[in-house]
Amino acid sequence: MAEAVGPSSPAAIAANRRRVTSAPENIDFETTEGVKAIASFEEMGIKEELLRGIYQYGFEKPSAIQQRAVMPIIQGRDVIAQAQSGTGKTSMIALTVCQRVETSIREVQALILSPTRELAAQTEKVILAIGDFINIQAHSCIGGKSVGEDIRKLEHGVHVVSGTPGRVCDMIKRRTLRTRDIKMLVLDESDEMLSRGFKDQIYDVYRYLPPELQVVLISATLPHEILEMTSKFMTDPVRILVKRDELTLEGIKQFFVAVEREEWKFDTLCDLYDTLTITQAVIFCNTKRKVDWLTEKMRNNNFTVSAMHGDMPQKERDAIMAEFRAGTTRVLITTDVWARGLDVQQASFYVSLVINYDLPNNRELYIHRIGRSGRFGRKGVAINFVKSDDIKILRDIEQYYSTQIDEMPMNVADLI
Ligand code: ADP
Ligand code: MG
Repeated sequence: MAEAVGPSSPAAIAANRRRVTSAPENIDFETTEGVKAIASFEEMGIKEELLRGIYQYGFEKPSAIQQRAVMPIIQGRDVIAQAQSGTGKTSMIALTVCQRVETSIREVQALILSPTRELAAQTEKVILAIGDFINIQAHSCIGGKSVGEDIRKLEHGVHVVSGTPGRVCDMIKRRTLRTRDIKMLVLDESDEMLSRGFKDQIYDVYRYLPPELQVVLISATLPHEILEMTSKFMTDPVRILVKRDELTLEGIKQFFVAVEREEWKFDTLCDLYDTLTITQAVIFCNTKRKVDWLTEKMRNNNFTVSAMHGDMPQKERDAIMAEFRAGTTRVLITTDVWARGLDVQQASFYVSLVINYDLPNNRELYIHRIGRSGRFGRKGVAINFVKSDDIKILRDIEQYYSTQIDEMPMNVADLI
């Protein structure tokens, strides 16, 4: 079942083809001198068999960030690449890794680290799909899965590992994951990877990697303090960055509902339920407990919802993801474990609505959460529930990203 809806299944590939619109093109990047935009994958000198995989997957031409960042990455440069969510950054990791790896050498040559297990697994699937004709061997090394299976896969030999830092580090220390031939380290959602929660683990992994390593950092958000620390482990990196005021996507309409008090959020959500189920919606809460609480309360009121957070067993997380991707569940209540990177697009369903039941705890998370909708040029709506004392935070977000968040109109359903 899970396989039938995976991104590399024929159905998903066909769906991917149909839905390709185009990501915003007229983005103003601030780049290192010499970075050019290359308008086609052929001109990038991508391997014949890999090109076939890219086209079969449904990509016809590179997105704005891909046009600028693919070349320096495949030339082996250290690269810092930032672009809005949903514009093809993670897909770019998949395709550049496929280009860089020598499939004749059955050793791990590229290591991709991601903050959540779901994202690491998604990236592995995209690599397998795009790299089908070059026979790429990739493995996702993530917590919550069998260690025995990791050992078996790694000992058998793979070219690429896409994982979460804890499990990857564990495999390296056991010497099951041999690092000798790793020439490329990619951190997806890199600001998150280099922030407090993960930083030590990343350095732990980094210590085991060969000195002439290529490092690639990718994210939609790259706060200043993160950019500053990159000089410690990157050499003369090529930077491709978007300006802050271009980070929110035009296709995503942002609204707020003034709920005044916490207690009133619930009724507001119930009133919106019919709107939520028009397509698929993700509801963000700030804590796992709140997710559990809200889920139960919705169910007690006879609303169908599913829920996911990091304390659930991995099997359950996978099942919930698969159902949501397949469109069998339409409303997902979750924490920020879901905010970064996950791509949900199906033939007829896609997340077009994001609700911030709680406003996020920082400015970066706001961009990641609302970026779950409106992917690759599609339209989306984000609705923020704001209590009286949250208005300041909302205005701060608005100002920081030079964007506009209006009061939710009555006809919001028409916008979805
Ligand atoms: P990001 O990491 O920037 O959020 P993703 O790589 O997850 O973006 O891509 C978002 C969506 O756009 C995915 O469904 C992906 O398949 C699609 N996509 C990426 N690059 C292209 C492309 N060049 N052409 C068409 N679709 C693309
Ligand atoms: Mg991504």
